[in-house]
Amino acid sequence: MALKVVMLGPPASGKGTQAVRLAQARGIPKISTGDILREAAQSGAELGRRAKALMDRGELLGDEEMIGIVKERLACPDAAKGYILDGFPRTVRQAEALDGMLRGEPLVVIDLAVPDAELLKRMQTRRVCGTCAAIAEPGSGRATCGRCGGELMTRADDSDEQVRQHRLDVYARDSKPLLDYYRGRSTCRSINGAQAPDQVAKELASEIDQTVAVVSGKRS
Ligand code: AMP
Repeated sequence: MALKVVMLGPPASGKGTQAVRLAQARGIPKISTGDILREAAQSGAELGRRAKALMDRGELLGDEEMIGIVKERLACPDAAKGYILDGFPRTVRQAEALDGMLRGEPLVVIDLAVPDAELLKRMQTRRVCGTCAAIAEPGSGRATCGRCGGELMTRADDSDEQVRQHRLDVYARDSKPLLDYYRGRSTCRSINGAQAPDQVAKELASEIDQTVAVVSGKRS
């Protein structure tokens, strides 16, 4: 079975970090809509210019545009063996569209729960690589990226206090309803994302293995 995972959770809940680790461990791509938009913004493409203006204010891009971007990305050959989606879906409309793309194939949904105070602290101190977009290990004290040597920087949408708070408000308004949308499914699991990253990764791997066993009929 191709492993298809959605990582839910507020900004700075660790979705990106965990998605990278999981994708590497399972040999499938991590597909991050935030990364796709930031790359478009760097390349100066028309989409990127519009996206940057919205991202810098902590607003979401339109559902239909995002659905189109993800549909195109999921049609790439590397996604046939599975994928980890990070940052999509972010609204119920996007989740419905994803279900349509999956045509009944199982989807593992992981929610990373972290209290708001911790999220605000993480956003304030988060550093990312300006070259490869990798998230720097918190508290490492490094000035350059451990992966590619690029310069570490603060994301534009992490650098303003009002934008940080606004992103949490947007999450509560637009993305929390996603939990209700998925909650009833046997493939939807919640993990305490406030724990150390290694512990989160361990629980994530175990939840995914259990969920895959359920959908492949090995356990109930
Ligand atoms: P992220 O890197 O996931 O925190 O996303 C950064 C920003 O990109 C968000 O604050 C939104 O402005 C935009 N974005 C990313 N994914 C989506 C999505 N699925 N729907 C709408 N906007 C998105």
